Amino acid sequence: MISDCCQKISPFIVMEILERAKQLEQQGDHIIHLEIGEPDFETPQRIIDAAKESLDRGDTHYTHSLGILPLREAIARYYSVNYRVSVSPQQVVVTSGTSPALLLVLSILLNSGDNFIGANPSYACYKNFLTYLNARFKCVNVYQEDGFQYDPDQIRQNIDSRTKAIMINSPSNPTGTLLSADKMKAIAALDKLVISDEIYHGLVYGERAHSILEFTSNAIVLNGFSKLFAMTGWRLGYLIAPLELIRPIQKLQQNLFICANSFVQWGGVAALTQTHPEIEQMVSTYNQRRQYMIKCLRNISFTIAVEPRGAFYVFANAKKFCNDSYQFALDLLKNTKVAVTPGIDFGDNGEGYLRFSYANSLENIEIGMDRLENYLKK
Ligand code: PMP
Repeated sequence: MISDCCQKISPFIVMEILERAKQLEQQGDHIIHLEIGEPDFETPQRIIDAAKESLDRGDTHYTHSLGILPLREAIARYYSVNYRVSVSPQQVVVTSGTSPALLLVLSILLNSGDNFIGANPSYACYKNFLTYLNARFKCVNVYQEDGFQYDPDQIRQNIDSRTKAIMINSPSNPTGTLLSADKMKAIAALDKLVISDEIYHGLVYGERAHSILEFTSNAIVLNGFSKLFAMTGWRLGYLIAPLELIRPIQKLQQNLFICANSFVQWGGVAALTQTHPEIEQMVSTYNQRRQYMIKCLRNISFTIAVEPRGAFYVFANAKKFCNDSYQFALDLLKNTKVAVTPGIDFGDNGEGYLRFSYANSLENIEIGMDRLENYLKK
C-alpha cells in the first residue's frame, strides 16, 4: 500500500522527541525544550503589520508562481547589498519555506542513482529528501577537532560521475559551525554545482557568514525567513539560481505548490526592506544564551572542542555518558524532563553527540542545565 520511497525515509527523530515531550507535558510534567530549532521570539511587529495590510487590501489570490515582483526585487537587493554580489530578480523563486525550495532544487537536478555530497553530521532532511528522490547522499565526515569544518580534499575524493552537486550549510545545523572564506573558495574551485543552505545567515556571533555567491555563480542559494526573522509558522523561503535553471524550477513550482501565500510574501518584503531593532536584540540575546550554555555544558563534562559561532545550536560530545544518543536523549527526557536532540538524527558520524538548542529563554536554559548537572554528576 505505502510506496517504497516513503517506506525508506527515516522519521525526523527530533520531532519524535518533541512529540514524546509533549505527551509528558500533557501528563503534567514540566519539560524544558532544548530540542527544537525554532526561535522562541515573536515575529517583529512591522512584518505582522505588512501582512495584515496586505490582507486588508484583498491580497487573497494566487500570485505569480515565481513570487511577487517586489519580494523578488527585495531579495535580489538584499544579496547585492549584504554580500556585494550581482543577483537579478529573475534568478529568484519565492517558496513556502526553505524546505520546498530544497525539494524543487533537488527534483530538477537528480535522476535516480545520482548523488549529492554533504557533511556528516548535517541537517537530517537533506539525506531524507535524496532518499525520497531515489538518489544518494554521499557523506563527508566532519570532526569536532576541526570545528566540524568540511575538508575540500575529502569532498574532491568523493566526487564521482554521478555527483550532481555539493551541499553546504553555514552556519550549520546541527554544529553551529561557520565555513571559513578559504574553505568556501576551495569548495567553489572544485568546479561542481554548489547548493548553499543559508537559512541561518544573520544568526552569527563574531565573524559574518559568507554567501557562496561571493565565490562562484555556479551555485544555488536556499534561504528563508523562519530563523532570522522568527517566522517559522509563516512558511516563507526562496532560492536564487542560475537563470537557465529557473524555468524548470518554475514548472515544478506551478505543479506542486502553485505559489507561496500571497499576504505572507508582503510580510517578507517588510522583513527585508524595513529595519527591525528586534532582530539585533534577538541576536544579542541568542549570544548571551550561547555563552552561558557552552559554559554550563563544559562544566557538566560535555566536550565542546570549538565554540559554535552561528545558528542557535551547541553540538556537544556526550561520549563520556553514552554511545547511543537516541537512548540517552530518551533517558534524559524521562529522568530530567529536559528534551534534547540525539546526534544520530544528523548522520552516523553524529552518534555520541547531543544537539542543544538555545532558542529558549535564559531562565529555562538555566533550569535545564541545573537539572542535567544534578542528574549527570551523580
Ligand atoms: N535548512 C536547515 C538547515 C534547517 O535547519 C531548516 C529548519 N530546521 C530548514 C532548512 C527548513 O526551514 P523552513 O522550511 O522553515 O524554511
